[in-house]
Amino acid sequence: MDLNSLHRKELVEKLQSAGIKDKEVLKAIGRVKRELFVKDEFKKYSYDNIALPLNSNQTISQPFTVAFMTELLEIKPDDKVLEVGTGSGYQSAILKELGAKVYSIERIKELYNSSKEKLFKLGYNVNLKNDDGTKGWIENAPFDKIIVTAGSPRIPKQLLDQLSIGGRMVIPVGDEVTQKLLLVKKIQSEDEKDKEPKYKFKTYEDFKFVPLIGEEGWTISN
Ligand code: SAM
Repeated sequence: MDLNSLHRKELVEKLQSAGIKDKEVLKAIGRVKRELFVKDEFKKYSYDNIALPLNSNQTISQPFTVAFMTELLEIKPDDKVLEVGTGSGYQSAILKELGAKVYSIERIKELYNSSKEKLFKLGYNVNLKNDDGTKGWIENAPFDKIIVTAGSPRIPKQLLDQLSIGGRMVIPVGDEVTQKLLLVKKIQSEDEKDKEPKYKFKTYEDFKFVPLIGEEGWTISN
């Protein structure tokens, strides 16, 4: 076993002790080579349970956060999943390992280009777009699952609209420093088909994401 495989195995054990239970999610983390999504100078920290810097002032999320958000989504093979914030492409790779059909949007061209090249090289067939993901991806909606990997001041209405009935979305909502992670379930019973769908929310405390910038996110320009 090479050193990275060993470190990956140790990371999976750490995530399990930290409360991640979904065996398929743990297996996916155990399969994806995180070092391939990390900048050269940080490769030695690839299997530490920490977020790491990417180009353009962005980050690859902490492995626990990736595992926790993915577990909340309850991904089933062939689920159509929208990711907002491709970043390094690591989360997309995890979703592909779970058998999802993945649509991922990144607003920064440099990251879009590098994740596209990397995912293609690794054989992950992910549909990618360089755009503001707060608008969703209307041509491919609705989505069974939506994962937003940047912190938002609110839940973008267009993402709620593009979530399937029975679908789940995870999104960090808060200020620009800390956020609560929201799990949103969209519900509509057979006898309420003529009414607006309902939403159920569950909140998980204290996460730190880079800001979601866009039409229905923060308005900082860079
Ligand atoms: N999922 C990523 C990964 O696995 O590496 C982590 C992404 S990083 C924490 C958040 C990403 O969201 C950044 O790359 C940032 O540029 C992107 N982002 C921020 N606002 C966005 C928006 N409105 N649409 C698409 N991407 C956005």
